[in-house]
Amino acid sequence: MTTVLIIEDEPLLQDLITYALENDGYQIINITTGTEGLAAAQAEPSPDVIILDVQLPGMDGFEIGRILQGEARTANIPIIFLTARTAMKDKLTGFNLGGIDYLTKPFDVAELRARVKATLHRVKIEQDKVRLDLEQYKSSLAQNTSYELLTPLSKVLSALDVLSRDSTQNNPEQLQRMIEVARSGANELHWLIEDLLLTNKLAHEEVKPLLHQKVDLAQAIHLIIEQTTMKYRSENFVFQVKVPEGCAISMHRKHLYHVLHHLLDNACKFSKLSADGGQIKLTVEPLEHGGVEIIIVDKGVGIPSELQEKVFEKYYQPDMSLTRKYEGMGLGLYISRTIAQAYKGDVTLKSQLRVGTTCCFTIPEVG
Ligand code: CA
Repeated sequence: MTTVLIIEDEPLLQDLITYALENDGYQIINITTGTEGLAAAQAEPSPDVIILDVQLPGMDGFEIGRILQGEARTANIPIIFLTARTAMKDKLTGFNLGGIDYLTKPFDVAELRARVKATLHRVKIEQDKVRLDLEQYKSSLAQNTSYELLTPLSKVLSALDVLSRDSTQNNPEQLQRMIEVARSGANELHWLIEDLLLTNKLAHEEVKPLLHQKVDLAQAIHLIIEQTTMKYRSENFVFQVKVPEGCAISMHRKHLYHVLHHLLDNACKFSKLSADGGQIKLTVEPLEHGGVEIIIVDKGVGIPSELQEKVFEKYYQPDMSLTRKYEGMGLGLYISRTIAQAYKGDVTLKSQLRVGTTCCFTIPEVG
């Protein structure tokens, strides 16, 4: 049932409003002081709309309104102020005016009834829209995720299919190739699932940096490049790697793999879409005050300047029409930056359309 909270200290007015709104089928809660009114507004379940007198004993109506709008749980309860003051505009500074309406005393009860009805109608439309948007978002997310998982899975299945046929028909090289295809597909699946799990975890807790583990950077880079080469085998990308010998950084091995995997994977995705792509450079340079900067340069399609920050948003997809072209769940850069920042580092991009992208991943030495 729709509940209307009336906070009004004039008994006559209170009776009048109550009578009218009860006739309209609302459940009414009547309060006569400011402090009690605030408590009633904050109580669970929240009222659907509040009719709030401005001049009240105990606490001013505006004060109550400000407190309610300042708290997430009560911020969206619509308020209709009743006021004898006419200069309402300046009084409403600081309010989210979307949830606020007012009537100047004396007012027509019919007018108040109409306002309550209109307010509730507006709230319902807004809630329906949020619900619909959320449904659409969930469904497109589920669709995209399924698609992303199916692609490598079908790689694994078709390779297994070839292997399970009469193996005498295949030469050893072909067999080896099929095993690699299956392994690469399984590896891609592994990363996708890791990304989903990590993203879910990041929604509830922060990345815990692990600083006492030293990871050999050259080894880590070569491992991830090997996996990436396997994934993009048909593209024949050339990786030019420059890492100082024996360079080690203090980082959780898994965190480092995540970032390297995503940044190299992005470079490949961008290169794949460009005729000039194919050469990807990875350089490791020491930072002035300790730590390193890993720079990945591709000659791929590039990212339009207006999207260069947006691509770091969670589940960001460049554009519905481009989604499938760019591939991916839109988590790579979000995960990479979140991890890097947990180590007081960062991931940044410089990109030019049709020229390429330079991606910098910094990890300072943290004592
Ligand atoms: Ca009053």
